[in-house]
Amino acid sequence: MKINRNDRSAGDLVIIAGPCAVESEKQIVETAIRIKEAGADYLRGGAFKPRTSPHDWQGLAAEGIRLLEKAKAETGLRVVSEIVDIRDLDLFENIDVLQVGARNMQNYELLKELGRSGKPVLLKRGFAATYREFLASAEYILSEGNPNVVLCERGIRTFEQYTRNTLDLAAVPALKSLADYPVCVDPSHGTGRSELVGPMALAAVAAGADALMIEVHNNPEQAALDGRQSITPDEFSIIASKARELYGFLNR
Ligand code: PEP
Ligand code: MN
Repeated sequence: MKINRNDRSAGDLVIIAGPCAVESEKQIVETAIRIKEAGADYLRGGAFKPRTSPHDWQGLAAEGIRLLEKAKAETGLRVVSEIVDIRDLDLFENIDVLQVGARNMQNYELLKELGRSGKPVLLKRGFAATYREFLASAEYILSEGNPNVVLCERGIRTFEQYTRNTLDLAAVPALKSLADYPVCVDPSHGTGRSELVGPMALAAVAAGADALMIEVHNNPEQAALDGRQSITPDEFSIIASKARELYGFLNR
């Protein structure tokens, strides 16, 4: 998978891991060190959190980006973080991949601006977006001259309440048959339950995913956001090695 030309793991499964939100220097640096040891390629962490309620904590913002830069400098991991407003673009200078969240998949003005920015974009599927709508959103980025788009299946809203979302793994081969983007799967938001992350990560690889994005927290019970779906670095280590083994088996 190519997220950008310098991706050392082009041709290999790309694994993105890290907490839902950047909370503190200790949290993000410790998590980064542990996921790097476990074989992650990218650190994720939200500095700008688009929350369902305006009264909920919205992330550390610029300070969160600074802490991601610190974790990047300490580990050498590349970094993925969500951008919610194009006016923040300058802050993301040292962020390697810009994430567009499910809530912004159809924010066409944001997509066009990201197309002009030329930076790699991880585009998450909207809660209720069809494949065609998802691909049309990716086209907005491409049509402004930016071909570095990765699609991310993160679950859709269905009648099921047990899981946070319903992870649609048919999206992986379907999107690949319809267009030529690398496809990432996020089994964390896709299930909302830590115990389901490992099985669905492997199922995603079996379905042909090029990348995985997994929420990992150094202490899930204390996580400010999405603790219920976050796994520990030890759990991540096992899942990452199984996923790579399966990917190698299927792609050799
Ligand atoms: C996230 O990745 O933390 C996130 C907010 O995801 P989504 O946009 O898929 O809900
Ligand atoms: Mn999250």
